[in-house]
Amino acid sequence: MAAALIDGAALARRLNDELKVKVEALAVSGVVPRLGVILVGDDPASHTYVRSKSRAARSVGIDSVEHRLDSSISEAELLALVDQLNHDPDTDGILIQLPLPRQIDVTKVLRAVHPAKDVDGFHPTNVGERVTGAGGIIPCTPMGAMFLIETVRSNIEGLDAVVIGMSNIVGKPMADLLLSAGCTVTVAHIKTVGLPAICKRADIVVVAVGKPRLVRAEWIKPGAIVIDVGINRIVTSDGEKRLVGDVAFEEAAVVAGAITPVPGGVGPMTIACLLLNTFQAALGRRGAELRAG
Ligand code: NAP
Repeated sequence: MAAALIDGAALARRLNDELKVKVEALAVSGVVPRLGVILVGDDPASHTYVRSKSRAARSVGIDSVEHRLDSSISEAELLALVDQLNHDPDTDGILIQLPLPRQIDVTKVLRAVHPAKDVDGFHPTNVGERVTGAGGIIPCTPMGAMFLIETVRSNIEGLDAVVIGMSNIVGKPMADLLLSAGCTVTVAHIKTVGLPAICKRADIVVVAVGKPRLVRAEWIKPGAIVIDVGINRIVTSDGEKRLVGDVAFEEAAVVAGAITPVPGGVGPMTIACLLLNTFQAALGRRGAELRAG
């Protein structure tokens, strides 16, 4: 393996340790940041993610309150819970674990979260503020990916970046952050023609698709930074269950300059950034109270 391994788990631990100190200092003023997590249905992966997020929150001193709802819940009932959390003075951040059941309009529910408590950064107000450079809460996964890129190269101005995948939660905000950092950005998607050649131009490749081994060694420019966001559960030919990304890791690592593993790359950073956003939301909402007090 020629590439440097970008250790997301280690960086996330460091960020969590730093955050814990800040949360403890805030607790002296009587403020304990609280994350309200809404989990609908019994999707095993969603349950695993929520458990990891809640455990990580508690480990840094952030209070995590889970609201587990049956998959048959109506949209109106879910919106009522969001409204309740919007008005709860002790709740600083609201996370709605996706996906939601079919009967629920995801866009409507995400829009119902108060922008100041939208720690996932999905609300149109936060999207608009981010895109226009006016601030806004940044979605956790792209934010984590930017931290990882920064560990390899602090200044990425002028670099050629390719983002594969254009979802609202990963691909589009990722492209936007890279653009703001001064990269020349190409966003590729399912209809992109000639993806291998486009990818091979890139100094930075971020892959967020959900297809194991989509990106092969011959797609990668020698020395490129490769950030693999994909999480795919596969069963190997010998029956072993494994988590893999969207990049054919072993072969890509021979060509890339630096690469994230799956697991242990973007995943832990997503959670660390969720906690950072929750802390910032608490400071933002309660800062005025603290200054007044
Ligand atoms: P998504 O909403 O399904 O979006 C996938 C994107 O990839 C879409 O834009 C899709 O294009 C595009 N695409 C599909 N097949 C393609 C192909 N063959 N070539 C190029 N583009 C293709 O998924 P997502 O929510 O962004 O998540 C992407 C992956 O990241 C998933 O594996 C997910 O589990 C993972 N993820 C990881 C984290 C983490 O913390 N590590 C967080 C979030 C997501 P169309 O829209 O045109 O179909």
